[in-house]
Formats: sequence, C-alpha cells, structure tokens
Amino acid sequence: MIRDRALQTREKFVAKLPVTGELLRGSLLERTIRHKSGCPKCARGEGHQVYVLTVSYGGGRVRQFSVRRERAAEVRRWLDNYQRLKEAIEAICELNHDLLRPEGAIARGGRKKRD
Ligand SMILES: [Zn+2]
Repeated sequence: MIRDRALQTREKFVAKLPVTGELLRGSLLERTIRHKSGCPKCARGEGHQVYVLTVSYGGGRVRQFSVRRERAAEVRRWLDNYQRLKEAIEAICELNHDLLRPEGAIARGGRKKRD
C-alpha cells in the first residue's frame, strides 16, 4: 500500500518535471556600474545597471557571465526551470528511499499485497 502510494506520488512528480533544455544553474545579480569620470549618466548618480550570472562550482570556483538586459527575464525563467527540476528530482529521490525498503518491512502491521 505504501509502495503503491509512493509509486503514484512518484508518477505525479515525474509528470510535473519541467522537461526542457532551458536550464541554468546559478544566480542572476543586478549590479550598478559607475564610471569615475567622463560619463554624464554616472555624474547624475544614475549609473548603469548590468546583469551578471554567477555560477559556483566545487572548490569555491565561481564563474561570472554578463547578461544583456533584454535577456534577463529569459535567464530568470531558465534558472527557475533548474530549481523546479532540482526540487522534483530531490522529491523523487526521497520517495525512492521508501521504495528501497524491503516489502516485509512495509507490510508489517498492514495488509500485504499479493502480486
Ligand atoms: Zn557611466
């Protein structure tokens, strides 16, 4: 019974997986660049807004990619896809722990399914 429920729940997670290649890992940061001299915009205190995608790897290594303003929304969507996919994968892995338990251990105290 627990096993059936776990399998059903797992199928639901699988059906909800955002199956797409539009995936990005990391964070999109918005930064303001200010030129020290010779820029009227910066002289007015406005500065220039830029987007940077930062991606960290093992060992504390971080890569940064500049992102054009017009692609920021797209990058956010790809980051979101990654997060949703990762959460779904984690949930499936947790469920699979239940499925790894021996049948007898699950059935103890409940009805044993014959199949
Ligand atoms: Zn400037």
